[in-house]
Amino acid sequence: MALTDAELERYARHIVLPRFGGAGQNRLKAASVAVIGAGGIGSGAIPALAAAGIGRLTIIDNDLVDRSNLQRQPIFRDDQVGAGKARLAADFAMAANPHVTAIPVERRLDAANAPELLAGHDLVLDGSDNFATRLAVSDACAGLGIPLVSAAAVQFQGQVGLFRGRPCFRCFVGDAFDSHECDNCAELGVLGALPLTIGGFAALMAIRALAGIGEDSGRLHLLDADALAWRAIPLPADPGCRTCGVPAQSG
Ligand SMILES: [Zn+2]
Repeated sequence: MALTDAELERYARHIVLPRFGGAGQNRLKAASVAVIGAGGIGSGAIPALAAAGIGRLTIIDNDLVDRSNLQRQPIFRDDQVGAGKARLAADFAMAANPHVTAIPVERRLDAANAPELLAGHDLVLDGSDNFATRLAVSDACAGLGIPLVSAAAVQFQGQVGLFRGRPCFRCFVGDAFDSHECDNCAELGVLGALPLTIGGFAALMAIRALAGIGEDSGRLHLLDADALAWRAIPLPADPGCRTCGVPAQSG
């Protein structure tokens, strides 16, 4: 798949980049990425993925733009309050880069429909706002063998990690969060620009994974926006994990 003159001009800073070059750009062009959630994380990740030249983006979100989203979600405008986020985010991506095909999916992802919605993608970037969705996404990605960048931000804390097989996201959080009642930005608040930073970092991890740069799985990156410090912690696999653990021997 040759890059056109217009693409060579647009991606010039990738083309000259050591260990990336035209081969890396072609990998991004050939890639299909599903983004769960066109919220704060999505506002950071979607423009970065589109600009970098991911060929195909599927944007899954069934929410409408609320005025209280605008403090941290700059892909939406004040005059778009009440409109569907997935469609607006897809339009934003394709207006930013006409070489990108962005497909809005205005459905709520859950454990039942996740495998169907995520199958066929090369990578999933999850920026959803609750644990039940994150676990459904993680379980589906583990079952389908799709690398997952899972990202979250609430109050002053952000976290982002790449999960590829074992350990999976469920190893990290366990089974206690499968209900929809657990966590929500609406009650807890979130500092502006924090989700954008985490979403941008998630896009960086996705681009690295798709271009074949580095091996980023197995560590969780944490941003404390109160102390203003990043740290990375190792993520051990949970042998008893019901998604990726080894079944107990019987007999
Ligand atoms: Zn696991």
